[in-house]
Amino acid sequence: MSYLENTFTRFHKINPHEPEFTQAVHEVLESLEPLFARESKYEDNGILERIVEPERQIVFRIAWTDDKGRVRVNRGFRVQSNSALGPYKGGLRFHPSVCSSVIKFLGFEQIFKNALTGLAIGGAKGGADFDPKDKSPAEIMRFCQAFMTELYRHIGATIDVPAGDIGVGSREIGYMFGQYKRLTGHYEGVLTGKRPLWGGSLVRTEATGYGCVYFAQNMLKAHNKDLEGRICTVSGAGNVAIYTIEKLQQLGAIPVTCSDSRGFIWDKHGINLNTLKRLKEGANESLESYLKYRPDAVYTPVEDYPEGRNPVWSVPCELAFPCATQNELNEHDAETLLANGCILVSEGANMPSTPEAVHKFLQAKILYGPGKAANAGGVATSQLEMAQNASMQQWTFEEVDHRLRIIMENIYRQCANTAEEFGEPHNLVLGANIAGFRKVADAMIEQGVY
Ligand code: GLU
Repeated sequence: MSYLENTFTRFHKINPHEPEFTQAVHEVLESLEPLFARESKYEDNGILERIVEPERQIVFRIAWTDDKGRVRVNRGFRVQSNSALGPYKGGLRFHPSVCSSVIKFLGFEQIFKNALTGLAIGGAKGGADFDPKDKSPAEIMRFCQAFMTELYRHIGATIDVPAGDIGVGSREIGYMFGQYKRLTGHYEGVLTGKRPLWGGSLVRTEATGYGCVYFAQNMLKAHNKDLEGRICTVSGAGNVAIYTIEKLQQLGAIPVTCSDSRGFIWDKHGINLNTLKRLKEGANESLESYLKYRPDAVYTPVEDYPEGRNPVWSVPCELAFPCATQNELNEHDAETLLANGCILVSEGANMPSTPEAVHKFLQAKILYGPGKAANAGGVATSQLEMAQNASMQQWTFEEVDHRLRIIMENIYRQCANTAEEFGEPHNLVLGANIAGFRKVADAMIEQGVY
């Protein structure tokens, strides 16, 4: 058995019933094959066995009181995956689907994503199986405070710097930041995604979506194409989707869809961004209300989805931006996109395409930007926030946006050059995985066995 096969067999044995984590690890190991065929130092140093084992996993109880005075309990996680390149860094997700497998897959992806940014950040992820959807603002605050009461002893501005993810935006970051400050007495950059008024960076809110479009722009440019006038499908209606739509519109493309957990909107004339922002950035209303402002649009509720599949991917488009969640785009969706003439997929979400869907995209040799490269603009801008906090400065919007563009261009270049180096120029999955892995693995070797 090869080193890769051996590692995966052992991994499988000690991580049973963790489908998302297994999927993420399998994808990375698979694309490392050509690297291992050339280099023996990674095997000699036991890098693979080490990298698939998080450095530390913290699981904790979060007890809080709801508005009726009842005690509620949730499970909290912080998985500190790898610190070879810098302090642990990665978001917190509050969603009922959160479990060990989901957080470990996200932490694993984060290692390579953060390495690709070229900035000094290690990989981590955390969160809780808490559903913010039906909670009052006061319950959200008490939950965030209870969460931080457990987490604060494990993090710090040079130790581990969490941020947001699904279900965690600047409001939640604010409540957690306030609680950290009260518990420790330190006003420090322990969290990113803060509001600019109290230490946040400009552009952080927009960064994942903007970055995902910049990545798409780089892919197109390398093939002498641009965004102008192209019809785009976007899934999701959270922060990533909203700012993907915003940047697409600024650059002359026409995004026509968005979706939430209850249904999806198809607005042939182009999504009305003000309406979407009003619905989602304010009270978080259902997308169905979009029709009140845009009666010509089509709304399909989840109950009417064919075979449970998201019909966003059946809408004809040239460019697709999955910005909702993991495994939201399957093999059939990939086939439909390709049959409709889709030429590019840039992933704003983490691992939104199933392995079978990725395979279809690679086979068809379309421009496919995997999440760990295409959505790295969010965490990269988080690191810019850390840099501003450490130097007690606040940069302008233009300054941060300019840096973000350069970072996304560099990420694209690294992925494309590495793919080229290994003889598969179109394969940015291979490019991203090998380029990210090499950096982390080399740093681990140089720092001795740990
Ligand atoms: N949750 C985001 C991601 O998946 C951002 C993490 C961060 O800013 O630390 O990369």
